[in-house]
Amino acid sequence: MALSGLDIYKLLPKTNCRECGFVTCLAFAMQLAKRQVMAEKCPYLSEEAKRALEAASRPPIKLVTIGEGENKLEIGNETVMFRHEEKFHHPCGLGFIIEDNLKEEEILEIVKQINALSFERVGCMLCPNLIAIRQNKDAAKFAQTVRLVKDNTSLGLVLMSKDAQAQKQALQIISAQKPLIYCLNKDNYQEFSKIAAEFRVPVAVYAQELSELSGITQKLINQQIEDLILDTGKKSIAEKIWDLTQIRRASLYRSDRTLGFPSLVIVQDRSRPFEEALEASTYIAKYAGIVLIKGTQPWEVLALLTLRQNIYTDPQKPLQVESKIYPVGSVDDKSPVLITTNFSLTYYTVLGEVEASKVPSYIITVDTEGMSVLTAWAAEKFTAEVIAATMDKLAIKEKVSHSRLIIPGYVAVMSGDLEEKTNWRVTVGPKEASGIPSFLKNLHG
Ligand code: SF4
Repeated sequence: MALSGLDIYKLLPKTNCRECGFVTCLAFAMQLAKRQVMAEKCPYLSEEAKRALEAASRPPIKLVTIGEGENKLEIGNETVMFRHEEKFHHPCGLGFIIEDNLKEEEILEIVKQINALSFERVGCMLCPNLIAIRQNKDAAKFAQTVRLVKDNTSLGLVLMSKDAQAQKQALQIISAQKPLIYCLNKDNYQEFSKIAAEFRVPVAVYAQELSELSGITQKLINQQIEDLILDTGKKSIAEKIWDLTQIRRASLYRSDRTLGFPSLVIVQDRSRPFEEALEASTYIAKYAGIVLIKGTQPWEVLALLTLRQNIYTDPQKPLQVESKIYPVGSVDDKSPVLITTNFSLTYYTVLGEVEASKVPSYIITVDTEGMSVLTAWAAEKFTAEVIAATMDKLAIKEKVSHSRLIIPGYVAVMSGDLEEKTNWRVTVGPKEASGIPSFLKNLHG
């Protein structure tokens, strides 16, 4: 947790020697609290003070990366308990467990299904993140399955085996991809900590009780093994939520470094997929860093990814699309030009209606910082000047041979001003998007 200026002052020598460039230690402390100056500017800091300042500037929940390249998963680095206080930063990773005792063709089929799980929603691509391979047979079969999955997916991998030899064999194949190894516990601590250090991979730490978990992570931190994920094992949903919440509270409010890591939850033994989806959604909503499930059905995954997207968007920033010219259908230089705002919901509603009209058209979205038409107009983000500037910038004149612009019915009041600013003839469209199909068909006719 960040220290106040007075907290920092208590750690300083209080000699007012001025060597840091400030007249007093208190002035230096105040600037340090605002991160306007580096602690190293004071040459007289005690070791204790350096440690305290270093700990205070560290994120309360460690950022942990699994995988490499564009599909790598970053989790942690969260700073608030509640989304409305700021925002949640790193979306929970969603992954699927594959058993290594399945036949090769069955494994390949599941991997193929997982790779195909990709959905577009409000201009964003929603995809799962991880495949976890669980050992049921010997180390050789586990390593063989890990190789098979690695060769057929670009998603991050989780190696689920309590057998140190099996982990080593698998890591010799894929350590460069930085998989998560699952899991280290009090019984295999010696072997697994060595593996995590040797292969430099993140490791999941397991203990049923938070106090025990904390004891294990403290030992790992002492060994500089800090890419950790926490798991408190199989419990009731209420108990899991309790654990996830206490872990988050301990790291944010009590600066407990031993619990300052993302958490992992495995949803298991749910015979019905809707139960699995409901349980997984509970953990996505409340603090899980990773949720592993078995079900790979698109309807289940879409629901979870949609929930995740909503929770991890910035509540102070509406979803927006890029400000540009969107051609809809087989447009040509005679196609109508409609203008609207870049609020995702507005754009996709207009897009759907234009598509339904079957009249090829251009839609121009104006950057209104994600505000809808009337709000943007009231906030002076959707004015004749702004629209004219956007049309110039996007060079709509180069796309069409006419000069006719359709504006939303709610901003009919600006039509005269807009004609003056653009030299285009402005037509007032319908107030509601649902009126667009008949409007465009009549316009076309
Ligand atoms: S150098 Fe350190 S001891 Fe000297 S005034 Fe600055 S903060 Fe105080």
